[in-house]
Amino acid sequence: MTLVREGPFRFRIEPQDRMRVPGVVFATEELLPQAVGDKALEQVVNVATLPGIVRASYAMPDVHWGYGFPIGGVAATDVDAGGVVSPGGVGFDISCGVRLLAAGIDRTSLAPRMRALMDLLGDTVPRGTGRGGLWKLSGRAQMEKLLVEGAGYAVECGHGVARDLERCEDRGALEGADPSHVGQRAVERGLQQVGSLGSGNHFLEVQAVEQVYDAETAAVFGLHTGQVCVMIHCGSRGLGHQVCTDHVRVMDQSLRSFGIQLPDRQLACAPVVSSPGRGYLGAMAAAANYGRANRQLLAEAARHAFAVAAKAGLDLVYDVSHNTAKIETHDVDGVPRRLCVHRKGATLALPPGHPALPEGLVESGHPVLVPGTMGTASYVMVGADGNDAFWSSAHGAGRVWSRHEALRQVRGEQLRGDLESRGISVRPSSWRGLAEEAPDAYKDVDAVARATEGAGLARMVARLVPLGVVKG
Ligand code: 5GP
Ligand code: MN
Ligand code: MN
Repeated sequence: MTLVREGPFRFRIEPQDRMRVPGVVFATEELLPQAVGDKALEQVVNVATLPGIVRASYAMPDVHWGYGFPIGGVAATDVDAGGVVSPGGVGFDISCGVRLLAAGIDRTSLAPRMRALMDLLGDTVPRGTGRGGLWKLSGRAQMEKLLVEGAGYAVECGHGVARDLERCEDRGALEGADPSHVGQRAVERGLQQVGSLGSGNHFLEVQAVEQVYDAETAAVFGLHTGQVCVMIHCGSRGLGHQVCTDHVRVMDQSLRSFGIQLPDRQLACAPVVSSPGRGYLGAMAAAANYGRANRQLLAEAARHAFAVAAKAGLDLVYDVSHNTAKIETHDVDGVPRRLCVHRKGATLALPPGHPALPEGLVESGHPVLVPGTMGTASYVMVGADGNDAFWSSAHGAGRVWSRHEALRQVRGEQLRGDLESRGISVRPSSWRGLAEEAPDAYKDVDAVARATEGAGLARMVARLVPLGVVKG
């Protein structure tokens, strides 16, 4: 495979063999070898063979290997020209995403109350595998309401305030959710887990704004230097995982009937306008709404802890999903087309002035939330003009070590000691899970943020540093 440099932050893989479009990789020389090393670029090439794909198969600067599609991959297919939807292009943790809240307190005032706050968060935020969630649903009927209305249903039931929804992507509910395509097993797995972090990579982190790069946009988002924030990263738990598993199986079996040939079975897919395609999209939207309601409940737990232990409120800055497939209209070669945009480990990043922006954010652009690691930093960015990746941006630092490799290199107990000695409180759920998420297991988030800005995908607004982390 040859990578052709197209600019300081952009590389191109020319179409070859069965590729229908080129590959486009946003990176620097420094970030690139890591992507080559983990076979993610082969996956970029594989994705470029999908029926109906338009423009390019994209890799964000945090790209790394994933199931079928790379994580940090973006691909759009033309709905009305045989374009496919692939569960592997969304991932198992449907609607995994990030929610950022801004606290009405600064880090110096919080310092003496930090320990009590972390203890309360550690005790009240359900996490790890097996433990239930904050909100037990009564049965399938109630679940179906949640699957259709998402975060809105949680708010309707008293878990949050109306303003929260104004700061959620899609106002907290992705359109087109069809619970009839969510199997009973998925529903059963989901009933007990609303309001739970899950494992490993998921977290609730208390952070402080360390630096502001764009004061005007930061003010619109409600952020200033020294301010405390809460970042929540989690998804759709067992329900989303089961939806993905169930629909991959259906699509795998229907591939031949659509005459689709794939370089990798993990790319199992079906035309968007087919019965398996529609079924998956309806179930995926339902699971996406579960993920959004889940984050809404966790934000309420954080609010409770802050009210008790820090005597401070929390306002929602934004909630964005980074594992979705959405039907959107984009200009392709000057013609508006209906596309199915897969963002897997990538977030929406609309530029200032875009008509789809929520009220209050039209002039600033779409918030882009980029968690880094529990030992380094995380970024708040904002959508920028000149993004040709269907208004998509990076979603994290991105892994360099597999979980297995991280376990060989790092001991959880020691890592906790290191972080605590640097003033970062850690409430782990297992030593193993902590070690797997060690800061060294990830790319340099500062480099990823610079590459994201350099490539014109999004602009930096603020850099946040960790004060304490409750780990899944
Ligand atoms: P993913 O959705 O791909 O599992 O994770 C998104 C990103 O979250 C990762 O690429 C990584 O940069 C970031 N991340 C994982 N664990 C932590 C953590 O404990 N704290 C912060 N701030 N970021 C994390
Ligand atoms: Mn996830
Ligand atoms: Mn995620």
